Amino acid sequence: MTGLRTYLDHNATTPLRPEARAAVTAALDVVGNGSSVHYEGRRARGLIEEARGEVAALVGARPEMVVFTSSATEANNLAIFGAPVERIVVSAVEHASILEPAQARGCALVTVRTNSAGVIDLDQLESLLADPGPTLVSVMAANNETGVIQPIAEIARLAHDRGALVHVDAVQAAGRLSLSWPVLDLDMMSVSGHKLGGPQGTGALIVRDNLNLRPHMWGGGQEKRRRAGTENVAGIAGFGAAVQAAQRSLARASEPSRLAALRDRFETALVELAPDAVIFGSGTERLSNTSCFAVPGISAELLLVALDLDGIAVSSGSACSSGKVARSHVLAAMGVGDELSSGAIRVSLGWSSTEADIDRLLASLARIVERKRTQYAA
Ligand code: PLP
Repeated sequence: MTGLRTYLDHNATTPLRPEARAAVTAALDVVGNGSSVHYEGRRARGLIEEARGEVAALVGARPEMVVFTSSATEANNLAIFGAPVERIVVSAVEHASILEPAQARGCALVTVRTNSAGVIDLDQLESLLADPGPTLVSVMAANNETGVIQPIAEIARLAHDRGALVHVDAVQAAGRLSLSWPVLDLDMMSVSGHKLGGPQGTGALIVRDNLNLRPHMWGGGQEKRRRAGTENVAGIAGFGAAVQAAQRSLARASEPSRLAALRDRFETALVELAPDAVIFGSGTERLSNTSCFAVPGISAELLLVALDLDGIAVSSGSACSSGKVARSHVLAAMGVGDELSSGAIRVSLGWSSTEADIDRLLASLARIVERKRTQYAA
């Protein structure tokens, strides 16, 4: 990142890609309502449909399966409240936009544990699915705090073998991992525009054909009656352009390995400067852009503020929606004690991250750790 600041919080939001900025700006000049039949309306509709095709292509789905929403939070709410089921199974490490609606819906709710690496316990899931009744299994493809990747193909197979529906929150995985709808065989999947370089306030729920999903917004025929309301044409156009750019770099495979190299360099140097540092989820498959760590004896509050004063933006635990340093339910599910988890910091990289960003982060961390050491020594 250029300028005075070093932005390393891409799992919270990724800077707008230039392609997305251009698409948003151009779409703002289109005057029509996408539901109008005249030329202007058809132009707006054209932008929406083009983006729908791009979002569908990202995961190998068909355009008519894509329902545009205002965010992935809304997509997750639509999946949880709209699924024709009487029981919901979630994992202990889901995002609040799954856990809170699942509680609010008021039907039976069961939580599957994870192992100490943060991976969902498939044996427990299988035994829970033995109970009869229409069930939705909702799991994330990759965790927002640790980057830990879940075995979603296996989870989908287990669930479908027992007649359950499957929803995947692919917010952190989309554009970072290759996801194939035909291979995964899902019922629903949520994606977010601003996590892959599109504008904030855009998302989509991808829904299998003929799924009897109950809408939660009424009063218009948009999105095949699945989500009423005039579409955010400029946002959707930017979302589509960002998806296309993300998919191009994913297809080259150079971007995930470039980020993995930056992340690995960071983690190797971190352990050199603080040998007692703990990297969460490091023993399992993780997104190449995410590092979640704690240095015992240094609180997340102290690290966040000290790094921020040095011009570096990172995040702690699950702070992405509250902006506050809260104890992480994800690390708790992995069996991490309160003391260590209170020091958890997430560094997340993206398309704009460079070697120089990592240099600055390491230099700043070295100063903070050294200051802390001399404080203890004094
Ligand atoms: N799901 C996960 C795993 C997330 O990380 C987030 C945001 O951080 C969301 C859902 C919500 O996405 P949005 O910001 O588009 O509402």
